[in-house]
Amino acid sequence: MDSRDHVDVIAFGAHPDDVELGAGATLAHCVADGLQVGIVDLTRGEMGTRGTPAIRAREARAAQHILGASFRRQLDFGDGQLRTGREEELAVIELIRRHTPSILLAPYPDDRHPDHTRTGQLITDTWFYAGLKNLDTEHAAHRPQAVIYYLQNYQFTPSLVVDVTGLWKKKMRAIAAYSSQFYNPKSKEPLTMIAQRSFVDMIEARGRHFGALIGADYGEAFVSKQPPRVEDLVAAFRGREVS
Ligand SMILES: [Zn+2]
Repeated sequence: MDSRDHVDVIAFGAHPDDVELGAGATLAHCVADGLQVGIVDLTRGEMGTRGTPAIRAREARAAQHILGASFRRQLDFGDGQLRTGREEELAVIELIRRHTPSILLAPYPDDRHPDHTRTGQLITDTWFYAGLKNLDTEHAAHRPQAVIYYLQNYQFTPSLVVDVTGLWKKKMRAIAAYSSQFYNPKSKEPLTMIAQRSFVDMIEARGRHFGALIGADYGEAFVSKQPPRVEDLVAAFRGREVS
């Protein structure tokens, strides 16, 4: 795609596959609604026990196409030591200004993996800085409407849940594209926490759990520092009760 192309949403993750696990079905939902979506991984996942950066890049590309994202960028901020200095801030600011998204998705900035925490904070900071008119970069100032945080390891009470019932299978296919990382009985690689069958089962259960909270089959949970505007109060709560 043209590097100046507008997208409606950019989803940021620390590692390839983070975005799919936390918000893959929501991204597919946006695409199904006719929105343009971009994905940016801040590292190449080179510290992963399984796979290699080259394998993970191929898997990430396949997952991008399954979700229907317009582009995927892989930056190199350092897996397991994610850098958040001025150079990294400016790289993210330029991406935000170039693609002028309305919404940024990011990891919740308090998580078990410090790279996730740092990514969440970096995106929060650059969301604001990107809107400063006197910060001179190649592209004009642009501040998206909001940063929305997706769930990774540490739990949170969601401020919104997206009904992703019709897109859940697509999310799980995108996750399965990372065959080096997740449950694969044929793999000869060392077993990791996320490569156990129970991890994929947990993702499925989490989708069911958040779906049940909103009266849907599947949901993905997010936190927003400011509440979303609800335009149809009745529709927002439809399906929770039987009667
Ligand atoms: Zn991660």
